Amino acid sequence: MTETASKETFSFQAEVGKLLDIVAHSLYSHKEIFLRELISNASDACDKLRYEALTKPDLLAGEGEFRIEIATDAKAKTLTISDNGVGMNKDDLIDALGTIARSGTQAFMQALKDAAQKAEKGGDAGVNLIGQFGVGFYSAFMVADTVEVTSRRAGGDTTWRWTSDGKGAFEIEPAARAGRGTDVVLHLKKDAKEYLDAPRLENIVRRYSDHIAVPVILKGTEKDAEDRTLNSALALWTRDKKDITDEQYAELYHHVGMAYDEPWMTLHNKVEGVVSYTNLLFIPTERPFNLFHPDRKGSVKLYVKRVFITDDCDALVPGYLRFLKGVVDSEDIDLNVSREMLQENPALRKIKSGLVKRVLGELAKKAEKAPDDYAKFWETFGMVLKEGLHEDFENREKLLDLVRFRSSGADGWTSLADYVGRMKDGQDAIYYISGEDAEQVAKSPQLEGFRAKGVEVLYMTDPVDEFWLSAVGAFSEKPFKSATRGGVDLSKIKGAEADKAADEQKDKPAEEKAAGLDPLIAAFKVALGDKVKDVRLSDRLTESPVCLIADEQGLDMHLERLLKQHKQIDGLSARVLEINPTHPLIKRLAGVAEEKKGGDPILDDAAFLLLDQARIVEGEPVLDPQAFTRRMSNVMQKGLAA
Ligand code: ADP
Ligand code: MG
Repeated sequence: MTETASKETFSFQAEVGKLLDIVAHSLYSHKEIFLRELISNASDACDKLRYEALTKPDLLAGEGEFRIEIATDAKAKTLTISDNGVGMNKDDLIDALGTIARSGTQAFMQALKDAAQKAEKGGDAGVNLIGQFGVGFYSAFMVADTVEVTSRRAGGDTTWRWTSDGKGAFEIEPAARAGRGTDVVLHLKKDAKEYLDAPRLENIVRRYSDHIAVPVILKGTEKDAEDRTLNSALALWTRDKKDITDEQYAELYHHVGMAYDEPWMTLHNKVEGVVSYTNLLFIPTERPFNLFHPDRKGSVKLYVKRVFITDDCDALVPGYLRFLKGVVDSEDIDLNVSREMLQENPALRKIKSGLVKRVLGELAKKAEKAPDDYAKFWETFGMVLKEGLHEDFENREKLLDLVRFRSSGADGWTSLADYVGRMKDGQDAIYYISGEDAEQVAKSPQLEGFRAKGVEVLYMTDPVDEFWLSAVGAFSEKPFKSATRGGVDLSKIKGAEADKAADEQKDKPAEEKAAGLDPLIAAFKVALGDKVKDVRLSDRLTESPVCLIADEQGLDMHLERLLKQHKQIDGLSARVLEINPTHPLIKRLAGVAEEKKGGDPILDDAAFLLLDQARIVEGEPVLDPQAFTRRMSNVMQKGLAA
């Protein structure tokens, strides 16, 4: 590059190229949101400089108040959005407007592709996604053929211009600008001339950007020489609750949360005390696509005395409330506190604990007063909230009241208190079964005995369940017990009145039920060797001949599978094979064992086939596919011969 011929051309990162393609072709509705996005960026730029100026006040020299200006040029058919915020240097322009530096870009592109396909069929989910991902700048290409961004970094002395038609590449060249800040010039497409129209612009700004705390000024034109401020330019959270409309709340939520659904819940409070602060927090209606992405940034912005400090602060809300979006503004934090030191800040610690109490309290109210509405929240964010059960000891009791489960004993969602209220006489534990999904665990053979007795079992189907269960241990003094582990004694529990007769049969002492089964159990143990930990009689089976369970001291089977999947353990430990003494097949095999005094090839085959059968039900592979098919053929052949 020579110093004079100074125009350089760059290609967009591949993801940006794809994104621009989608922006240009499928997001035809709500084009007006481009203005919201550009104003939002301008406002962020002012926030960033205000923060930097805390330690470098010189950066503010030579300019008046922060402001955002919108100017139209009817002849040139351009719309310009300018700000005197932090600005961008050459590298910033290349990075910020040429790449997507966000976590979960791949996941996002996939979601966007799906949305685009839907959009072709008439939906517009894409706009929502674009917002969620915060690639707002590129929305300018919905209305512009060419976009020029001229910017000077605060404190810098060079200005650069970025130009692109949004088709694969952009150019960078030196330019001129009076002071710091950014001008985004849109060369409007033929079908976007409406954005030269003052009333239309005014309408869009009022609708989407009224909450912006920097004045948004529409510059006068030849026709109408007056400059006009279009927004209230007052941080929304500082205003009186009763003066704020739902729409205004929603727009602030869209801006800070980079989400375009409606808030499911809005919490706007002023807290006066040892530490005073205002919180304006939102719980989204929809699950953000990157909720489980490890390097996802937080969406609660911390302000100190109206100055934006950071939106990436773990010290503000705990991980299990990471679905919260919004703003916290405090008078009682030193403005000069560095972002790094926030973790240790005692005032912030108080705010965090106050916020957690407030959010959990409001959720509890909602759960009580509007259970159906709460169920919707639970389906969206329950698996995240549950993380608090093992992370937040202090609020564990409150969280235990908030958790909901699917269960074998009730339709819909059940709370732990409701479960305990339905426990049977003699039942001293909260039974649960864990697995991939409710439908699948509901079919588990291990539940047969529970169902026959009318004993309810909770379905634990989120991976996080395995972790808090071991940490929590009990609810209202009733221990959690796995239905697929040893140490379950159903005979002590009184079943429903109608089941009495059956109960009496089933509740026969173990010795009686076991009568005649010893030789079979012994034969199975010999045949299976170390493939099983033990072979035992079961009282949890009524229909199936066998099932697997984990030893009472062992890890839950589902947890083991999870750990293996994540390579935390090498293999699964040997399980206990439980057999159903009332099943005709088992009875028949017991007869054979008795007769043959244990040793017979048919018993060997039966032992392995039954074990494999139990493994299949658990979603695990058979031990040895060749051996399995050989044994299966053997047994079928004998069956046909008989
Ligand atoms: P986001 O705002 O979510 O970061 P955008 O696509 O809207 O994503 O903007 C991309 C980046 O471009 C911003 O993060 C910022 O670094 C930069 N940027 C955009 N507009 C401006 C502006 N007016 N002033 C300074 N930087 C800007
Ligand atoms: Mg943006």
